[in-house]
Amino acid sequence: MRKLFLLMLMLCCLAFSAVASAAQVTDVKWGVDKDNMLRFVVDLTDAATYKVDVQDKLMTLTVDAALKDGVAKSSKTRSTIASVMKVEPAGNKTLIKIPLSRELKADEYKSFTLRKDPQTKRPARIVLDITAEKRIAPASVATTNKSSASTEKAGVTISNKPSAKVASDTAVVGSKPVTNTRKKPPGVGTAPATVNASVSAPSVNLSLGGGSSEESEKDRKKKEKERKKAEKERLKKEKEAKKKAKKNKGKIDANKVGYLTDGGIEGKVITIDPGHGGSDPGAVGARGTLEKDITLEISLRLKEELEEKGAIVRMTRSTDKEVAGPGASDVDELQARINVAERYKSDLFVSVHINSSVNKKVGGFSAYYFPKTKFDTKIAKSIHDELTENFGRDNLGLREANFYVIKRCSMPATLLELCFISNKKEEKLMRGNWFQNKTAKLIADGIENYFK
Ligand SMILES: [Zn+2]
Repeated sequence: MRKLFLLMLMLCCLAFSAVASAAQVTDVKWGVDKDNMLRFVVDLTDAATYKVDVQDKLMTLTVDAALKDGVAKSSKTRSTIASVMKVEPAGNKTLIKIPLSRELKADEYKSFTLRKDPQTKRPARIVLDITAEKRIAPASVATTNKSSASTEKAGVTISNKPSAKVASDTAVVGSKPVTNTRKKPPGVGTAPATVNASVSAPSVNLSLGGGSSEESEKDRKKKEKERKKAEKERLKKEKEAKKKAKKNKGKIDANKVGYLTDGGIEGKVITIDPGHGGSDPGAVGARGTLEKDITLEISLRLKEELEEKGAIVRMTRSTDKEVAGPGASDVDELQARINVAERYKSDLFVSVHINSSVNKKVGGFSAYYFPKTKFDTKIAKSIHDELTENFGRDNLGLREANFYVIKRCSMPATLLELCFISNKKEEKLMRGNWFQNKTAKLIADGIENYFK
């Protein structure tokens, strides 16, 4: 159980806690990519815990692993934020000291870990990115950086949207479909911050006018509301009828070969994988929130959303359990999740996770893909765009990653990290219905767009 827990943490959660390890640091590489992001990669014999400290103009990465003999102790690079790094042994720890040209803000660097991959013979790694001097790409998507020697190709874009502060409270306004029939006082018409694509806000002019024009305005408004209501009823009935029809022919074609990528979402087979479960809680928040519970809640809602759109949905788990059963090896557990997708000849595999970081200030969305087909990037981008464009949370970018579940399945896949459990505000947010419903809806919309 501990082993599984460990692996899952390494796999997708950046938080490490109290993991004893006899790991060794075998190499420390660093370099600047074409967008001027400075990246450090620490190679390890095994996973190890670490911390990042920034004191004035000195950044220190402390790795809980001894430094192996022969690792370069000092080297230089062409970066505007740091030009030299020193690697020092400190008992059974290794210190990587980076003098900076200026002080860094919390959102100007980040770190994560990559697990050992026996297939590609890549070691366990700790990655530290300093994005302070990074040139931000115009689009919200950073694609693969084919940067020279680096074996990591995770394109990372951080755009701190000014709307980030809109978060939990005010954004609620925009999330609700326009079913609110409560009358607003004139002149206080707050248009939804985010307008639902299918239900546009009524274009009622709420400016203060004279008595008579206000009367006719009221009538017009009332009629408009009735019309909308009737339209909504009609759509609802249509949806229900569709759903029924789907249920009957929702059987998966036994002769199907390969996966489908276009022609609309109807009839497409989608496997949803709620991250972690059973003995593996995933990341844990300060209030005791467990990642496995939130991923399951969102996934179950996502299933409903997708079925309403006519998709056929399969779940790797729909209760709090391990997919491979208790006591299975870590790889068997992950493979069991893929097996569900393969068994049902899925067109798509979507793994739902919640992120975590040692840096409690970090928050926002990221979507991971492994480019085994050209559609992996497409699905990750399609969902990520929906989430980042409609939420007041940070956009941490599309990222390429070697994760087992998205790499080893035959169909296009993405692994979503929906905000940070380590961020107080986001932890509170993700416990609520509003967040869970809204993420589910947006993910479903992203999937629908993908199949268009
Ligand atoms: Zn996770």
